[in-house]
Amino acid sequence: MPRPPAYLDYNATTPLRPAARDALTAALDVYGNPSSVHGAGRAARRLVEDARGQVAAVLGTLPAQIVFTGGATEANNTVLAGTDGVILVAATEHDSVLAAVPEAERIPVTADGVVDLAWLDDRLAGSAAPSLIAVQAVNNETGVIQPVTDIVARARTVGARVHCDAVQAVGRMAMDFDTLGVDYLSLSAHKLGGPKGVGALVVRDGVPVPKLMTGGGQERRRRAGTENVPAIAGFGAAIADAAASLTDGDRIRGLRERLETALRARRPDAPIYGAAADRVANTVCVGLPGVRSETQLMAFDLDGVAVSAGAACSSGKIAASHVLLAMGVPVDAAGEAIRASLGWGTTEDDLDRFLTTWTRLAAGGPSRRVA
Ligand code: PMP
Repeated sequence: MPRPPAYLDYNATTPLRPAARDALTAALDVYGNPSSVHGAGRAARRLVEDARGQVAAVLGTLPAQIVFTGGATEANNTVLAGTDGVILVAATEHDSVLAAVPEAERIPVTADGVVDLAWLDDRLAGSAAPSLIAVQAVNNETGVIQPVTDIVARARTVGARVHCDAVQAVGRMAMDFDTLGVDYLSLSAHKLGGPKGVGALVVRDGVPVPKLMTGGGQERRRRAGTENVPAIAGFGAAIADAAASLTDGDRIRGLRERLETALRARRPDAPIYGAAADRVANTVCVGLPGVRSETQLMAFDLDGVAVSAGAACSSGKIAASHVLLAMGVPVDAAGEAIRASLGWGTTEDDLDRFLTTWTRLAAGGPSRRVA
């Protein structure tokens, strides 16, 4: 029997939580259209509204402020592409933010990957006040946490709205929508143990939701299209479970610290990106001088260890990560970085397997298959 993979790619996607699987599979048989007024429709509506309540409870907000979407890409596109005026986006945002507004001004980040607040102060003191500022809560490549409330305070001085992509934060750290103070917040179910293709846009009371699609009046006329009831039910169960097990973050942080200590001991010249900033507990982005990310990924894959390079891989070629480049990492070094992201299923054995492969790569040894 082949060994199951050591899965260290929770920032790409997560395994389905058992509670989410149960809710999702049970909902597959609840076939009514949630907009129908008959009993079958009302049964489906109940599942959607229960899940809305679960998402709202975790974020400390009201169910009416939750709009279900087909994932965070849709939620991000809805706000970014649908807002007029000058838009500022952090340079390290996810592509689903950056590509939605190619003309947006980019807010630089420091070498640690944190939004440059001094730059933002200068920019806001100048002309052409922005209508929207988009800053993610946590970076998907480095785990760096952004000072979102500080940015909200600055945005308020010029009357700008704030959008926050919280995909990598919810389920990994406590998040309270009202305390954060943003106008829009994007979530994705599959990053917290739910199914893929479902997410939410959380909207401050009274703030309009731009229309990405038109058609039916679902989601209080804020998102047209019949709701994906089973996926939404799975999302609700997943987020409730994720919030109830946030304390697992301490165990995960311990695992990561042990890993980073071992990496530093083996190769003191290996940069750990964002290490000087506040980071969520589960992410390590590490460069291995002299070894390309592609080479590392292949070696890890052959050894049954699932990790990622910083940026998407197209036609077998990995482009240098825009996140690391924005942090001032030279292009060659950015091409030597990989990301390991841990989660509730991660064990010490998984990290030992990671370290075995990494140590061999760090010593310049050949790639080989581990039995
Ligand atoms: N934002 C961030 C920070 C992400 O990590 C991702 C997923 N890689 C997305 C947005 C897109 O989410 P989805 O897969 O739900 O479209």
